[in-house]
Amino acid sequence: MTKADHILLLAGTFEARQLAKQLSTRLAGCRVTASFAGVVKDLPELGVPTRTGGFGGVQGLSDFLRAEHITLVIDATHPFAAQMSRNAAEACASLQLPLIRLERPIWTPLADDIWTHFGSMQDAAKALPETARAFLAVGRKEIRQFTWRDDICGLARMIEAPPQPLPPGWDLVLQRPSQSVSAEADLFRKHGITHLVTKNSGGMRAYAKIEAARKLKLPVFVIDRPHLPEAETAADIESVLEKTRSQLARDGT
Ligand code: NAP
Repeated sequence: MTKADHILLLAGTFEARQLAKQLSTRLAGCRVTASFAGVVKDLPELGVPTRTGGFGGVQGLSDFLRAEHITLVIDATHPFAAQMSRNAAEACASLQLPLIRLERPIWTPLADDIWTHFGSMQDAAKALPETARAFLAVGRKEIRQFTWRDDICGLARMIEAPPQPLPPGWDLVLQRPSQSVSAEADLFRKHGITHLVTKNSGGMRAYAKIEAARKLKLPVFVIDRPHLPEAETAADIESVLEKTRSQLARDGT
C-alpha cells in the first residue's frame, strides 16, 4: 500500500457506507473516492470525497479511472445494479486494474416458506393471480411493470416517489425498509396483502419483510439476482478490507 493508492468505491448500499468509513480509518494513507448513481436525493455523508451521477458507460468509467489514477475499484453497489457492475468489470479488465465486488449472500427459503423464483420483474408481475394485493418492494423505475395490470393492486414501498402517480387501487409508502418483523407484518395486515414481491437483495437490513411473510404464511415472489461477470468477490466488509489490503500490498511490492 502506498500514498499513491486511490480506491474508487462504487456506492449505493449500507455496506458501502460502512466501507467508506473503514477504508479511510483502517487503510490510512489511501485515498478513497466514493461514487453514487444519484438516483436518491438524500445521499448519506460518507466522510470521503464523493462524486455523483453516471460515468457515461464503460468508456466514461475507463476515462475516469485513468484521469483519477485509480489503483483499485471496490464494487459495493446493490446486487441488482447490474449495469454498473458489468461496466466496472469491463473497464477494470481492460485497464488491468484490480476489482473487488462485495456480494452479500442471497436469501434462501426455510422449510415452510412459499417462494416462487422469477428471472425478471415482468415475469413476476404476469404471474400474480387476479385480485392479488401485492406488497412491492421494488424500485421507482420498476413499479410500472406491475401497475399496468388492472386486475391486481396493493402497496408499493420505495425511497423516492415514482415519476408518475400510481393508478387507483395502489398505495405508496415512501420509506426505507423497516427492520422490525412486527412492523412489517402489521403493514401487510393493514393493507390486506396477499403476496410479497421482492428482489433477492440479501443482507439483514431488508430481511424483516421476508420474516413477516413467513409469519403470515404469505407467498413470496422472489426476483433472482442478475448474472454478473466473474470477479473477485467478498461476502462482507471485513473480507473486502482484507482483500483490498492484500491486493494493494501485492501491487506496492
Ligand atoms: P444500474 O442499472 O446498474 O445502473 C444504471 C446506470 O447508473 C449505470 O450504468 C451508471 O451509469 C449509473 N450508476 C449506477 N450505480 C452507480 C454508481 N454507484 N456510481 C455512478 N454511477 C452509477 O443500476 P440502477 O439503475 O441504479 O438500479 C438497478 C437496480 O438496483 C434497481 O432495482 C434499483 O432499485 C437497485 N438499486 C440500485 C442502487 C444504486 O445505488 N444504483 C441502490 C439500491 C438499489 P453510467 O453507465 O453512465 O456510468
